[in-house]
Amino acid sequence: MFGIWGHEKAAELAYYGLHAQQHRGQEGAGIVVSDGKKLKLHKGLGLVNDVFKQADLKKLGGKAAIAHVRYSTQGDKGKGVDSVQPLLFHSLTGSIAFAHSGNIMNSHELRGELESLGSILQTSSDSENLAHLIKRSKKETIEGAIVDVLPKIVGAYTFIVLKEDKMYVAADPRGIRPLSIGKLGDGYVVAAETSAFDIIGASFEREVLPGELIVISDEGLESKRFAIREQRKMCAMEYVYLSRPDSDLNHVNVHASRKRMGAELAKELPAEADMVIGVPDSSISAAIGYAEQSGLPYEMGIIKNRYIGRTFIQPSQELREQGVKMKLSPVRGIVEGKRVVMIDDSIVRGTTSKRIVRMLKEAGAKEVHVRIASPSIQHPCYYGIDMSTRKELIAANNTVEEICEIIGADSVAYLSDQGLEEAIVKDKTINQGVCMACMTGNYPVKGES
Ligand code: 5GP
Ligand code: SF4
Ligand code: MG
Repeated sequence: MFGIWGHEKAAELAYYGLHAQQHRGQEGAGIVVSDGKKLKLHKGLGLVNDVFKQADLKKLGGKAAIAHVRYSTQGDKGKGVDSVQPLLFHSLTGSIAFAHSGNIMNSHELRGELESLGSILQTSSDSENLAHLIKRSKKETIEGAIVDVLPKIVGAYTFIVLKEDKMYVAADPRGIRPLSIGKLGDGYVVAAETSAFDIIGASFEREVLPGELIVISDEGLESKRFAIREQRKMCAMEYVYLSRPDSDLNHVNVHASRKRMGAELAKELPAEADMVIGVPDSSISAAIGYAEQSGLPYEMGIIKNRYIGRTFIQPSQELREQGVKMKLSPVRGIVEGKRVVMIDDSIVRGTTSKRIVRMLKEAGAKEVHVRIASPSIQHPCYYGIDMSTRKELIAANNTVEEICEIIGADSVAYLSDQGLEEAIVKDKTINQGVCMACMTGNYPVKGES
């Protein structure tokens, strides 16, 4: 997600901001702009580059924009362009656009309520529920309506709403999904990842706090609270896997945290080996940390074709396997005859590890010791990461020994819960708690899924 307020080149900057966050979703992209009087939308299926051409951005114009890249989760399976965000609604009193990230756990219930009141919903998107709830609120202002509606929502979410003359930004009471505010000249920017600020030369201001609603307009920035501030529970998987290494989440740099995960892993689970290799790209930081701590050389044993999207974005298992095959290749000259420690950031379904171990063995590796830079994922995520059924999680259905056998490794071991938490949370005084529910089963937000 991305938002910008108070800049002549709002649409173009939104495009760059999306581009820096392309890894967060590859199914679709959209931008809505405001010129102060009306809202305009351009969206489509595919990558940011496919959806937007120079002429589209020119046509959009505007001095404020919100933007989104789409990655559908289990609870949110709409596939067509209608489900691509931002969603834009017109009415007699003006227009309103929504971009949302995360998962609303009680959306089924909210939908039922809305339909019984006569709302006709057009998409399967959570954001549409939010839009209708806000429209139906009896409060006079949009601020009032948002503050009225948000406490009804159970789940993990961040969102940006755009009106002709204002932008609204909010994060759930636990702050599970990341969202930061930056400054660019006299204007403001908002992004899930700070990598989007760097690319457009904006400076980081602060995080959107758990349970906070921020209203941005030409008058500046105003903060309101719609929920009691609870301890933050930022998604640990953002650090482990999802975010870009150059992003800072909650004052912690992602690459640095991954290196600490790798170093912890080396302390907890050393291996007799000749070299350490990482699975590109997300495991390289952890592999460097492991190598540094263990004293083993870090080697480039696997290379990645960078023109193929992330495996987990592709919907079916069959496609996933195909994607993995196309994506990674072993470096025979490096691994042949060697004992290799292979670091991966996580095992979800087991597809990646299995394929890579086989690939390394076929390339002549003598032993492959798999070390995973996060604890085993045994519980579904209800907060917006696409692993929402126990059935698909290899560690929910197999012991570590069985996993080792399935993926054909010489040994498999995972980082401890405590090791991961310590690698992320550097300074407890700045409210840096993390969600680790998919590993511990300890869910910070309870509700239906
Ligand atoms: P698997 O192949 O075991 O399903 O997925 C684990 C590997 O793919 C890791 O290398 C990780 O980087 C990536 N990955 C694929 N899907 C997901 C997902 O839904 N969540 C996380 N955390 N990582 C995933
Ligand atoms: Fe992130 Fe796991 Fe928590 Fe989901 S359950 S928000 S993936 S840490
Ligand atoms: Mg990976």
